[in-house]
Formats: sequence, structure tokens, C-alpha cells
Amino acid sequence: MKLLCDRIRKDGKALNESVLKVDSFINHQVDPQLMEALGEDFARHFQDRGITKVFTIESSGIAPAYVTARFMGLPLVILKKQTSRILNGNVYQTKVTSFTKGTTYQLTLDRKYIDPEDKILLIDDFLANGEAATGAATVIRESGAELTAIGILIEKSFQRGRRRLEDAGYEVYSQARISRLDQGLIEFLED
Ligand code: 5GP
Repeated sequence: MKLLCDRIRKDGKALNESVLKVDSFINHQVDPQLMEALGEDFARHFQDRGITKVFTIESSGIAPAYVTARFMGLPLVILKKQTSRILNGNVYQTKVTSFTKGTTYQLTLDRKYIDPEDKILLIDDFLANGEAATGAATVIRESGAELTAIGILIEKSFQRGRRRLEDAGYEVYSQARISRLDQGLIEFLED
């Protein structure tokens, strides 16, 4: 998506060969006009797929996922990152390792907010090794619902996330696909 690629070229900061900072418009300060356009694009892309709920993972996925859900007229469910396991049986949980922090957390979904009949669209900000999306897929599968598709703002195509998700049978649509990063250098797949 040209709008997002242009914005990444202008305001994104490649720290090294694997990490891109987008703090000034996505992760820390948020550009609402950009989020509107990204959410509308996701809603258009995934219309007519019978989606019943939009899911995201706290916190950076919330802004684009909210807009997507609003355009689709669907509820938004936010998967929580808990520090410990909850043993009361009211939640689905799975352990995920954070790409940027290297720490682990328990991705948590209250059973109240998913039904076996649900068809889920997962929206997240970045796709790196596919840890977070795979965790989301695990809790959705555990509930008996279907993860119908995955929408990503920024895919780092040189990492294994897309391959891993596609091998597991999931459809992935990414609005910006980055082929190479280095300090001060950002290249896109279509460059
Ligand atoms: P994965 O779970 O696919 O390995 O990594 C995706 C998650 O890690 C995203 O939800 C995002 O929060 C974080 N992440 C991965 N790579 C980057 C990056 O280059 N920059 C930023 N800001 N976050 C990233």
C-alpha cells in the first residue's frame, strides 16, 4: 500500500538489520488519519469473507484494528499480554516470546469473547517471526473458532513469519512488505 510505504520511507527509522522504529506515527505517537486509511483498506480487502470479529494483540495493533472493526461493523477483541498463567479455566492462554523485547508473556483471551462459530480477522502492526500471530492462532483454535485471515501493517519479509503462517494454512495480507533493513536503510519488496 503506497500510502504506508511512503510514510515509512519518510518517518520510519531502521535501527539495524532487523528492527524498524515507527514510534512517531504508529507505536508511540499515532497518526489517526493514517489509521483511518489503513483500517479502511483492511475492511475493503477482507469484505465478503464472512468475518464475525476483529482480533488484535495489545497494544500497538489496537488503533488499526479498531478502525478496521468500525469499517466492517464488527466487534473488536484485544488479546491481552499477561505476565503469568491464570488457572481458573475462564481463559484461553498460550506462551509467546516477544521479538523486540526477548521476554515471554501469556497471550490471554477470555472465553466470553469468542464462540466456536466465529470467523476471525487478526490485525497486528508488525510481522517478524510470526510468534504473536501463531500464539493468537493457537488460542483461537483452542476455542473451536476459525482464524480466517491475518492483516499486517508492516511485514519484514526477510524474517520467517509469513512463511510460517502460510505453511500453517493462514492467508496473510500485509500493507507494507520490507525486503531489507540496515541502519538508515529501508527497502521494500516492490523496490
Ligand atoms: P513476531 O511475533 O512476528 O515475531 O513479531 C511481531 C511483534 O513484535 C509485533 O507485534 C511487534 O510488536 C513486534 N515487532 C517485531 N518486529 C518489530 C520491529 O521491527 N519494530 C517494532 N516497532 N516492533 C516489532
